[in-house]
Amino acid sequence: MTPDEVRFVEDPSAKAFHSEPATDRGASFVVPRRFVELAQAAAAHQSSGRWATMYRVLWRLVRENRRLLELPDDPDVQALAALQPLQTALSGFELEPLPMAGATRQASSAAPIVPAAADLDGLASAAVACTACELYKNATQVVFGRGPAAAQIVLVGEQPGDQEDVQGAPFVGPAGEVLDRALAEIGLDRRSVYITNIVKHFKWEPRGKRRIHQTPRANEIQACRPWLEAELAVVKPRVIVCLGSTAAQALIGPQFRITRSRGQFYPSRWAPWIMATYHPSAVLRAEDPSGADAVYRWLADDLKEAARRIIPGTPPSNA
Ligand code: SF4
Repeated sequence: MTPDEVRFVEDPSAKAFHSEPATDRGASFVVPRRFVELAQAAAAHQSSGRWATMYRVLWRLVRENRRLLELPDDPDVQALAALQPLQTALSGFELEPLPMAGATRQASSAAPIVPAAADLDGLASAAVACTACELYKNATQVVFGRGPAAAQIVLVGEQPGDQEDVQGAPFVGPAGEVLDRALAEIGLDRRSVYITNIVKHFKWEPRGKRRIHQTPRANEIQACRPWLEAELAVVKPRVIVCLGSTAAQALIGPQFRITRSRGQFYPSRWAPWIMATYHPSAVLRAEDPSGADAVYRWLADDLKEAARRIIPGTPPSNA
């Protein structure tokens, strides 16, 4: 079973684990000794999400990459690292310097506070208290995803903008208006779609009286990723649409280029299909009206193809 198909529920009345001797030797597999050491330490952590984190890393070690633990930037490896006692944190991984003498070290991942087996409301409530990266400090509030748990399409942007930060909801500012226009044009009810961001707090810098968007750094994206993973695990969409290159590179791959590969569908571990298109803000940033029209057309057409993925019997053009 994939990590997204497994729910770990702890029995508070249980005093110990019981294990059965393995009888099906055909199902055995070998993992690096380092994983066993990390899993043993993580098992003693208080986080309710530790079993899911361990299982995800184990599954990926076996199914994806036996050398996964050698990738310090991998979000799942970082989540496992966050479950280690500081003195036994991943060998070979550099700990971030303390922000100031005597201050508590910031966790590098939201994983320890992501509640296991929570619904979307439970996740959104828990995210209010997240301080896993620096971004919460200058933001008004956390902006969690919105939409029904039964949504078949998830739209993933980069981060909340100025208006989203104030209103506490994703895509409610000028870029949201562009998105609403495109969704209305293709006949997709926004209320049927789950909309979220890679990063849940607004990152900005002052310029005069304005707050100017700043692209989140890789460590901030990684810190926030467990929230997105949890959202996707609850919704289990048929299609994920990445809006913009930040989301696309985080979920499809660091080499992904919107200009080259927008509108292409790929299989993913969160959904049968994932694709990427322009962020609606790219329409607003276009240098002239014809450029804006072109970007808008690409955005709307790509969304239309994504919507076709959820209609049985109507495969999209590159199926
Ligand atoms: S951006 Fe994400 S990880 Fe960072 S504090 Fe906000 S919710 Fe937590």
